[in-house]
Amino acid sequence: MKNLIDVHNHTVASGHAYNSYGEMCEAAAAKGIQYYAITEHAPTMPGTCKPMYFTNFQIINRNAYGLNLMNGTEANIMNEEGELDLPPRILALQDIVIVSMHSPTYNGAKDLSSCTSAVVNALRNPYTQILGHPDDGQFPLDYDQVIAVAAEEGIIIEVNDASFSPWSYRQNCRENAHIYLERCAHYKVPVLLNSDAHFYTKTGSIDYALEIVQATNFPEELILNDKPEVFMNMINRRIQAWGGKPIVF
Ligand SMILES: [Zn+2]
Ligand SMILES: [Zn+2]
Repeated sequence: MKNLIDVHNHTVASGHAYNSYGEMCEAAAAKGIQYYAITEHAPTMPGTCKPMYFTNFQIINRNAYGLNLMNGTEANIMNEEGELDLPPRILALQDIVIVSMHSPTYNGAKDLSSCTSAVVNALRNPYTQILGHPDDGQFPLDYDQVIAVAAEEGIIIEVNDASFSPWSYRQNCRENAHIYLERCAHYKVPVLLNSDAHFYTKTGSIDYALEIVQATNFPEELILNDKPEVFMNMINRRIQAWGGKPIVF
């Protein structure tokens, strides 16, 4: 499978990633990525950029670096209510909105029902498009419930390459991935393999994630990485549902 899409990447602006915006984009283009996004951590992550960072993306050319270039955020799911750490007026300015659970920023209880409520409520947020790394055993999830809601809302489930790397600090990712992938196949929810790169050599890389997906015999037609039109249709459907303008390259 040719990987054409990577919409989960961090630069120095995130505070714990090590390359510039241009370095990340150039590395992605060199790998043959066509649809690319930088998605810095939203403001409650220690050391990341402030809300103002997320308000000026209109100055960036859509086709810079020879890519179909998008900008967005990896928003933090803050609590059991599924609140995100950017207000609607700023979420409305993002091309890509990934929502994720992170230990420095999640303030809710870490039992199954609390984490499941947090994620389900975040998926109901009209600005949410992608659920980031739903594999970390620190935040146990009722995958049947989460993936059923993703199916209803048209949310893309991320298979996060960094989760399965030897340097990952997330817990039980492989076991959990097998469970959520089985539920995605059941509910016909498309998945996107993203690098979650914090260094330029990792951008566009999905080898670890692909190995997991292939090991589960996941249906090829539900993998979006080589189907940019289907991917962009899903993103634009979410944007148009709250009244936003679709992304056009
Ligand atoms: Zn993350
Ligand atoms: Zn990330």
